[in-house]
Amino acid sequence: MWLSELWIATMASPKKTCCTIHSMKPPLNTLTSGNGHLRWLLALPKLGIVLLLGALLTLLWLLHLNEIEEERSALIKDVLWLEQNLYFHLNGNEEQLQQLAVDVAMLPEPRRIFRLRVSHLLKNNPEISQILWLDKNHSVIDALPGSAPPDREIEAFGPPVTSKAFDMARRLGKLVYSEPFFLENNHAFIEVAVPVYQDKEFSGMLVAVYPLETLLGNLVPWWFTEKYKVVITDDNDILYATKTHIEGRGNQTYEILFDPPGYGLKLRVSTYQNNGNPLQQLLTVAIIALGAGVFWSLWIVRDLMKKRLQAEEALRSEHAFRTAMEDSLTVGMRARDLKGKVIYVNPAFCKMTGFASEELVGRVPPMPYWIPEQIDETFAIHQSVMAGKAPLDGFEITFMRKNGERFHALVYEAKLIDGNGQHTGWMASVLDVTERKHAEELARLQQEQLQFTSRLVTMGEMASTLAHELNQPLAAIASYNSGCLNLLQRSDCEIEEIRPALEKIGVQAQRAGRIIRRVHDFVRKSEPKRAPCQLAEVVEDCLGFSEADARKRHIRIECEIPEVPPIPADRLMLEQVLLNLIRNGMDAMASTPEGHRKLHISVGLEAAELKISVTDNGCGIGPAIREKLFTAFFTTKPEGMGVGLSICRSIVEFHRGRLWAEDNHQSPTGSGTIFSFTLPLEAA
Ligand code: ADP
Repeated sequence: MWLSELWIATMASPKKTCCTIHSMKPPLNTLTSGNGHLRWLLALPKLGIVLLLGALLTLLWLLHLNEIEEERSALIKDVLWLEQNLYFHLNGNEEQLQQLAVDVAMLPEPRRIFRLRVSHLLKNNPEISQILWLDKNHSVIDALPGSAPPDREIEAFGPPVTSKAFDMARRLGKLVYSEPFFLENNHAFIEVAVPVYQDKEFSGMLVAVYPLETLLGNLVPWWFTEKYKVVITDDNDILYATKTHIEGRGNQTYEILFDPPGYGLKLRVSTYQNNGNPLQQLLTVAIIALGAGVFWSLWIVRDLMKKRLQAEEALRSEHAFRTAMEDSLTVGMRARDLKGKVIYVNPAFCKMTGFASEELVGRVPPMPYWIPEQIDETFAIHQSVMAGKAPLDGFEITFMRKNGERFHALVYEAKLIDGNGQHTGWMASVLDVTERKHAEELARLQQEQLQFTSRLVTMGEMASTLAHELNQPLAAIASYNSGCLNLLQRSDCEIEEIRPALEKIGVQAQRAGRIIRRVHDFVRKSEPKRAPCQLAEVVEDCLGFSEADARKRHIRIECEIPEVPPIPADRLMLEQVLLNLIRNGMDAMASTPEGHRKLHISVGLEAAELKISVTDNGCGIGPAIREKLFTAFFTTKPEGMGVGLSICRSIVEFHRGRLWAEDNHQSPTGSGTIFSFTLPLEAA
């Protein structure tokens, strides 16, 4: 209910002359169905991007694996080639040594042959540092180069290792490689021992010394070390020789047995740490950056979508709120565009007129709820509304329901402003005031009836005094009449003598007639009508009514009436007010000592109104009575009705004046009341 009241307040407020409507009917179904759809739309590109990035990264990973695989197979291929190359050289050396062993045993001048061949052999095979010719007792027969350090060293340190190879070669009768051994300068060596047989008898041994560093240095080509690190090691990871131009561990490693010479020696080849393909790295970085960029833009889109969803949500609840408000309204709402076409009506308006929304929306004047016989007047009002001249505090109009029934409507028009601040039409709130008007009319009739009844009561109360009043002229007429008759019975009766009596009869009859007319006028039931009336005459009439009563109660009535302009008023009503105040004043002075029973009537001219006061020296009004003074049917009198003052007040207010009571502080008795009322000089 409060919503509708709020709405009415907003629409009906004279200060608020426009209202804003953003949208009459937002496409709600589009909004609700769009929600899930949007979520899908939002999720699909995300999924697509994730899959694409996943595929790209997998591709890169596979490429990387492939590269590693290729690198490994190239490594194995190269290592196998190196192994073959080493064997090829060592085998070649073995063959030459074996041939030399045969030749030094068989040919004449063996020392010359040894020197010749060995110098040739050493020249062609720099990996051999020295070749020794030993006799069967390990003594050196000859050695080339003779002064090479290994020679002495071997003699000093070699025996445990070399003699083992020596003995083995002697025993087996064939070429034997020694175990690797280190000499003082920390160089590792191996030897190959080839037995020499003379006439099938062991006569000595040829020993070739291979420094392992030199072996690698000479037999591993330069391009190999550009790619790989080559190491001779054993199971205990003792490093015998290395050929590399970069320090540190390699990326991939491949090991093969170095056999011969054997004895657990291994050839370990490692690839250098590879920084990867720069193009590929660039591609990876580009893909990651691209992915991050796409995710970032998706995130922004997601944020935007979220905001949009929130806005839609707010719009939906706003729409629901508006619909609930519209449905709860008892005030009819009707929106028209600038050309007067109906663009919206609310359920209350449809209920009021009896037409369905579809029958009204889109209609242009004349509207189906206009009264056929008042089409011209209604159209004129419509034109003034369209011209923006509708009264701010609303206007009344009669409309027709679909069933032909008429109803009174109170219409407030306000500007219709759209979301861009544009004036797009007019919004009217329409109140069905038929019931209210009926109630007002009924109240007015009741009030009128009450006034009339009150007047009758006043008259009833005054009837006896009025009868007494009438008695006087009637008695005077009767006595003048009998005087005239007596004169006529005399023979000397002069007509001129009768004339004054007859004239007095006439005067008295007029006086009686005036009294009767006044009573008749007062009692007559008539519609209130304002006309310029002299207040002095009103007071005089009232005194005419009250004089007899006042005389009876020994009350003196004083009047103080200056020259005042006529006022627009209903004379009878004013008389009713004044008579009521005079009668109340006289009633209040019932217990006042006779000397102080005085009623004062005064009329004063103020700024734009007249002030009429009736002052008594009566009992006064106590606070308890004062509160209820103007309440209908409140009386302290046994036979009072208690409606006098309430009727007086409504009559005075009908004339746009005020009625109030105050204590008479000037009263000689110490109590008394002044009843005053004002009347504006100008009609509204
Ligand atoms: P009623 O005269 O029928 O009682 P009114 O409405 O004229 O009805 O007056 C209501 C009451 O107001 C009276 O009963 C009386 O108690 C009080 N009253 C009215 N005028 C005066 C007055 N001049 N002095 C004291 N009391 C008054």
